[in-house]
Amino acid sequence: MQRTKEILRANDLRPTKQRVLIGNFLFDGVDKHVTAESLFKKLSNEQRGVSLATVYNTLHEFCKKELLNKITIDTDKVYFDTNISLHHHFFSDKEKILLDIKSQDVKISSMPNAPKGKKIKKVELIIHLED
Ligand SMILES: [Zn+2]
Repeated sequence: MQRTKEILRANDLRPTKQRVLIGNFLFDGVDKHVTAESLFKKLSNEQRGVSLATVYNTLHEFCKKELLNKITIDTDKVYFDTNISLHHHFFSDKEKILLDIKSQDVKISSMPNAPKGKKIKKVELIIHLED
């Protein structure tokens, strides 16, 4: 897909076969949350021949270029979000899925001061769900 190549070039990423493949899936215009494992599985099912390490590295490269937003649920559960605008999430502990919450649906009425020498970069809320 031409669009993916343009996105990669605009961000100083060489459009390798693997990056284009992963980018075509991620940047198809539909917001999605993926983990390295879920994306690897999806591409494997389509017999695309991309290793888990490549998927993992590519997701982190895209993140560094701010093409994806990284959401860490806990240290072994990292999700990548193609919607990079500010928004919040529900997380289903059972199904292990993230659902978007519009930023305007959350109102934070009080915030602590940042520790000395620090400032608040962003506030992202994760609301955990159970059945
Ligand atoms: Zn999201």
